Amino acid sequence: MLVKTKDKLCKELNKIRVKGETVGLVPTMGALHQGHLSLVKRAVADNKVVVVSIFVNPTQFNDKSDLSRYPRNLNADLKLLEDSGCSIVFAPDTNEIYPEPDIRTFDFGDLDKVMEGKHRKGHFNGVAQIVSILFELIKPDRAYFGLKDFQQLVIIKKLVKMLNLQTEIVPCPIIREPDGLAMSSRNELLSDEERKNAPFIYEILQEANNQTGKKSVKELINWVINKINSNTYLTVDYFEIVNDKNLQPVTSWEDDCKKVACIAVFCGKIRLIDNYFLN
Ligand code: AMP
Repeated sequence: MLVKTKDKLCKELNKIRVKGETVGLVPTMGALHQGHLSLVKRAVADNKVVVVSIFVNPTQFNDKSDLSRYPRNLNADLKLLEDSGCSIVFAPDTNEIYPEPDIRTFDFGDLDKVMEGKHRKGHFNGVAQIVSILFELIKPDRAYFGLKDFQQLVIIKKLVKMLNLQTEIVPCPIIREPDGLAMSSRNELLSDEERKNAPFIYEILQEANNQTGKKSVKELINWVINKINSNTYLTVDYFEIVNDKNLQPVTSWEDDCKKVACIAVFCGKIRLIDNYFLN
C-alpha cells in the first residue's frame, strides 16, 4: 500500500499495533536496487509488518547539485517492491515531513567530525533529523541499515541511545554488483566509462586487506590513495582506517579494535563510498 501522508500512515499503523504485530522499518531515498531489497528481505523475515520509506531528504544534502541530480523514480520503486513482502510504502512530499524548517541540532561528539561528517558538513545532522522523524512517526520495533553507509550506522545507533528509543538497529551486509562495485542509487548517474572504472575502488580495498601485514597503517593509507588516484577516472576524497566503534583513525595494527577501511571517491562528478572490514 502506498501512503503519502502522516495521518494515513499513523492510522494504518494503529490498526497493526492493536493486533500486537511487530513493525520493521527500512528507510531509503528511493531509486531502489538489490542493496535496498536485501534490507527489505531481512525486515520481512524478522517482522510481521514492514514499512519502506522513500524520501529524498533535502536536509542531509550539503551539495545542492547532488540533491537536484539525485535519481527519483517512484513508479519503478513501487514495481520493485511489489513482490518484496513489504506492507506499506511511505513516500511523503517534503512539506509533509518538514511543515516547519527543522532547526534541531544533534551532538554526536567525535563520531560526525570524521570522514562523511567532515567532508559533507551538516550531513549527519540532516540524517538524524529525518531518521528521528520517521522513528517518532512509525515507532518501529526494528530498523534496517546497510553497512555500506558504515558511519551512518554507527551514528544511528548513537541517536537511538541519545533519544532513549526502543527500536533495534539491524545492520545489513553490503550488496555488490558482480564486478564488485557496491550497489548505490548514484551508480546509475555514472557514464559508461566511469562505470567501467568504478569497480577499481573495491579491487584496491581487497588488495589493501592483503597488505596489512606488509605495510604500516600510514604506508597502506598512502598506497591506497596513490593507487586509486592513478586511475584517471577516480579521485580520492578521503581514505581512512578507523576503529569500528568510535570511528577514530587507527594508528597501528596493534590497536585493540576491529579496523574498517572507509573510502569516498569522486568518479567524475559522482561521489561514491565504500568500506571494508580488514582482517
Ligand atoms: P539510501 O537510499 O542510499 O539512503 O540507502 C538506504 C539504505 O540502504 C541505507 O541503510 C543504506 O546503507 C542501504 N544500502 C544502500 N546501498 C546498499 C548496498 N549496496 N548494500 C546494502 N545496503 C545498502
